[in-house]
Amino acid sequence: MTAQIIDGKAFAASVRDKVAGHVARLKSEHGITPGLAVVLVGEDPASQVYVRSKGKMTVEVGMSSFEHKMDAETSENELLELIRNLNNDPAVHGILVQLPLPNHLDEDLVINSIDPAKDVDGFHISNVGLLGTGQKSMVPCTPLGCLMMLRDHHGSLSGMNAVVIGRSNIVGKPMAQLLLGDSCTVTIAHSRTKDLPDVVRGADIVVAAVGRPEMVPGDWIRPGATVIDVGINRIDAPEKGEGKTRLVGDCHFDSCAEVAGAITPVPGGVGPMTIACLLANTVTACSRANGLDEPEGLTA
Ligand code: NAP
Repeated sequence: MTAQIIDGKAFAASVRDKVAGHVARLKSEHGITPGLAVVLVGEDPASQVYVRSKGKMTVEVGMSSFEHKMDAETSENELLELIRNLNNDPAVHGILVQLPLPNHLDEDLVINSIDPAKDVDGFHISNVGLLGTGQKSMVPCTPLGCLMMLRDHHGSLSGMNAVVIGRSNIVGKPMAQLLLGDSCTVTIAHSRTKDLPDVVRGADIVVAAVGRPEMVPGDWIRPGATVIDVGINRIDAPEKGEGKTRLVGDCHFDSCAEVAGAITPVPGGVGPMTIACLLANTVTACSRANGLDEPEGLTA
């Protein structure tokens, strides 16, 4: 293996340490405790796990955590009423509505009812527009985490060829905007892209956000390129025993690591950065809401 492993777990821990330092300063110098409210509707098991770990890490960095669990039959009006209350609550600086929502709720309507200044997921249409026009915004957590790791590894990204595979609103599109903001030459690939292997071979930076286990093999990767694997896919792992599974990314790790200059592993790469960036966004939102300088290095 030749690639340097980008250790997302360690990097995320360092981001959380930085956040904790800012939280301590906000408390001691200004008497302000940043607060994050997480809203969960229904009982989706994966969402319950995410919400629990978000709550735990929020408290660990010294912030207030407000969890709102609503049952799966909650009406749109009830949910919008809760969001209105959180928008008006001065102790709440960040609001996250855990997705996916049950089918009877209109996700766009719900997300766009969040005060954009408290939209720590960065999914509100105003934040999408601000990011797209290069203005100060709340930046979606997963692509923000990828950007932080890339900046840390390369310093400047200016002039690099970046290929983002995937064009979702939560990962692919904002990732491309962020890379463009850092002066990369950006290509967004998707399921209709022709000659995807050739497109990827032109990249100094590959960000894979597809949701297809080990889709990108090493022979698509330009020697020395940096590979950021956003994918989280659970596959059968008979080698671990009957009925066992394991997590893999969208890139075939072993073959990509043979040629890449650097690569994020799955698990332990992008995943841990997502919650760290949620905490970073909350401290950024709190600083902005109070007219204070926002912490450096915690946002785009
Ligand atoms: P998504 O909304 O399903 O989007 C997947 C994208 O991949 C689409 O744009 C799709 O193209 C494209 N695609 C599908 N098949 C393709 C193919 N054969 N060749 C090229 N492109 C193809 O997924 P997402 O929400 O962006 O998530 C992507 C992956 O990242 C998933 O594994 C998810 O679990 C993971 N994820 C991880 C984190 C984290 O914290 N690490 C956070 C979010 C997501 P079309 O648009 O043409 O259909």
